[in-house]
Amino acid sequence: MEKSTPSEKSTNLIADWQTLQRIFIRPENDATQATLLKYMDQILFGLQDFLKKHVGITEEISLKELSDNYKETRISKNPEKKLADVITDLIKNIAPNAVNVASPYFIGHMTSAIPFFMVHLKTIVAALNQNVVKLETSKVVSIIEKQVLAKVHRLIYRESDQFYDTHVQSTNTTLGAFVEGGTAANLTALWVARNSALSPRNHFSGVEKEGLPAAYAEYGINNCVILVSRRGHYSLRKAGGLLGIGNQNILPINVDENQRIDITSLQQTIREIKKKGSIKILAIIGIAGATETGSIDPLRTLGEICRENNIHYHVDAAWGGPVLMSDKYRHYLDGIELADSVTIDGHKQFYMPMGCGMVYFKNPKKMDAIAYHANYVNRPGSVDLGIKSLSGSREATSLILDSALKIMGTNGYALLLEHGVETAKAFADEIQRRENFELVTRPTLNILTYRICPAGMQKALATGDANQKKIINKKLNAINRTVQRIQREAGLSFVSRTTLYLNNTPDEEVVVLRCAIMNPMTDMKILNNILDEQEEIYRSRFTPEL
Ligand SMILES: *Cc1c(COP(=O)(O)O)cnc(C)c1O
Repeated sequence: MEKSTPSEKSTNLIADWQTLQRIFIRPENDATQATLLKYMDQILFGLQDFLKKHVGITEEISLKELSDNYKETRISKNPEKKLADVITDLIKNIAPNAVNVASPYFIGHMTSAIPFFMVHLKTIVAALNQNVVKLETSKVVSIIEKQVLAKVHRLIYRESDQFYDTHVQSTNTTLGAFVEGGTAANLTALWVARNSALSPRNHFSGVEKEGLPAAYAEYGINNCVILVSRRGHYSLRKAGGLLGIGNQNILPINVDENQRIDITSLQQTIREIKKKGSIKILAIIGIAGATETGSIDPLRTLGEICRENNIHYHVDAAWGGPVLMSDKYRHYLDGIELADSVTIDGHKQFYMPMGCGMVYFKNPKKMDAIAYHANYVNRPGSVDLGIKSLSGSREATSLILDSALKIMGTNGYALLLEHGVETAKAFADEIQRRENFELVTRPTLNILTYRICPAGMQKALATGDANQKKIINKKLNAINRTVQRIQREAGLSFVSRTTLYLNNTPDEEVVVLRCAIMNPMTDMKILNNILDEQEEIYRSRFTPEL
């Protein structure tokens, strides 16, 4: 006989028809409603308080200990808990052991505090539960989505009033799509690029229908590649796998000393590929805000190269895209309007809750290359957004972005973005002032990398030969790994770390500390505390004689 779960022993709750009906209709009396509101109050206004003390994955409770508490794998037959108890559990037990990404001391990742109204908007979207896959389950919400897409498209491409009048609500054209995140956005862009490059002609009905072997035969090629700098996000390699061209064909191009794609290397790679004649370049990708370093490729130059060579130009602006709202810094993205497609993440610098990626296309007919119709849902020429989308059923995240844009205005967002850029610059200056630190990559946007590297070792690195450099870097890598770990475990602050290969060579493997400054409450006082703590850990661990 099957053993009963512990919860089944300890609860006398039962699932009955009457209760079931109650959870699908409005609370029937004032008392029930008051109870519900009390819990919503905790959720909407109480969660923010959780874990004020600690930041990041601390060792207060070990992951082992935590996972030991979550080993039951059977679903209980009877209800385990009432809503009230579940909410209390989430707030009292789960939230404190989650990560406090909202702390101004949490500067290691691209996930941060969000404005409070986002929680309210997300709640409303859940309550409406629209499905924007088709008009029949969303009505005005699909129409609003098209309007928001046009607003952000305009931010990127700045086409004419007439262009937007024509396309904003056109049922035959699409300016872009909402997807789950940057990964799905990049995949969508490259899917369109692949299908456009290997499109139907003569008796061939296109790669989407016939697959790669038939496409290669028709086009007289034996391989497809996509070119992006070594700083390209790994989602691009996933796309290479999913699109069937193989992720080894996402070719990494060398970077210059500012971590931007090296144009000479790129040109040379293009020439070599063309000489072979049997390889097609599906796309060249420019990065606007590299994940590791925040660097921005020379977008205009890349656009011109793509135009000359008739290659799809994609810009991965998952991180940097929203900077277009800052009059002061939008020139960083100069040339983005040449892109055939652009990725932007809502859950990064639009400060939205998780689950919002977007992809935009310069040509409103471009997404026809991935159109699908199902008789029962999406009819040609309808507003059904599922026709040209990787996703099927999908949440109306566009309502959140639309509302946020109204609440913030571009000026509101510009304040946030400029704070990030300027604080990162000040932080970089402070790092350079301190003799135990070395700035590894200067911030263009609000991401920078640095490491602990005492003045003496900096000197030795500058004068040493390749082998001596390698030995010193190895030592420094161990130091930086340890300092980052101890700081994280102490739980006062969180800085991430990554590995860069300087000068494009595995010989110069360098472990760096990485910061993304996007929380408006993060200031120089906090950043100085973080550096002080790192210096303190370094001193106590590695130079006991001091
Ligand atoms: C974050 C990021 C991605 C991936 O986005 P997800 O939303 O995590 O899927 C892709 N490219 C860049 C440059 C990014 O910063």
